[in-house]
Amino acid sequence: MSTPDNRPLAIVTGASAGIGRVFCERLASRAHDLLVVARDGNRLEALKRELEERYQIQVEVFPADLTIDTDVSLLVARITQSPQLALLVNNAGFGTRGPLINTSPARQEAMLRLHTVAPMRLCMAALPVLLNNSHGAIINVSSVASFLFSAYNVNYCATKAYLTSFSEGLAAELAGTGVRVQALCPGFTRSEFHQRMEVDTGDIPQWMWMSPEAVVDASLASLDRGRAVLCVPGLRYKLLVMLLRVTPHWIIARVTRRHAEAM
Ligand code: NAP
Repeated sequence: MSTPDNRPLAIVTGASAGIGRVFCERLASRAHDLLVVARDGNRLEALKRELEERYQIQVEVFPADLTIDTDVSLLVARITQSPQLALLVNNAGFGTRGPLINTSPARQEAMLRLHTVAPMRLCMAALPVLLNNSHGAIINVSSVASFLFSAYNVNYCATKAYLTSFSEGLAAELAGTGVRVQALCPGFTRSEFHQRMEVDTGDIPQWMWMSPEAVVDASLASLDRGRAVLCVPGLRYKLLVMLLRVTPHWIIARVTRRHAEAM
């Protein structure tokens, strides 16, 4: 039976909405205590109330903007004092739209910080704890976009490519330690992501959408099975990634530009 003393701890960034929120629900149902991170403290408090009542676990709310160095440092300090840490989910992220030259440089820099610097620093903070326990995992939420490049999504694809490559390299480094790393690479997922970008998703066919529940279940099932570093939820996206690996770059450039212009 799980008691407050022996329950594993999961830290989830971007916990207030979408994929991160579903990770919290699923991990709470697996009797994990949670440390939930996002900017919107009110939403995190509501999540804490709901999950503590439903699953009899403990949830710590940690409001933070992970594009800001001092906030990341505070979270790093908190992680180093979490001996029961079993899982870190680096999930917080956002997209922008439009040609790079028309977007705000500050917003682009924030994306680089959120998708690359913050996850890297949080991984480095978590690793000594996980290695000391010879157990645990890190899930870095990347994207199918990490396997391509795209006009109007220049930095989104580039930062997610970093996250996938970082995860694969780190997993190789950790082989045999009992600590696993997963790069979770979803395709189009129903969440607040596109709404926040203010893009019109009407042209995206229904069959391309996945629910955040299906994405998270695929991720945790893959982790349970001790499967490969890359987790691409959904057969359609597994096939797409295989196709992308052999597609000439001029075709990717043309197709992604046409698609981005339509959104
Ligand atoms: P979402 O519903 O918009 O959720 C994004 C989460 O990130 C929210 O909890 C948000 O909370 C948090 N966040 C954003 N900026 C932050 C910051 N500066 N500091 C801390 N937290 C921040 O989007 P989602 O679809 O669940 O996205 C989760 C991850 O999946 C992202 O990394 C995204 O790139 C990836 N992904 C999404 C899709 C898709 O189609 N939805 C596809 C592939 C990959 P606050 O606003 O409260 O901070």
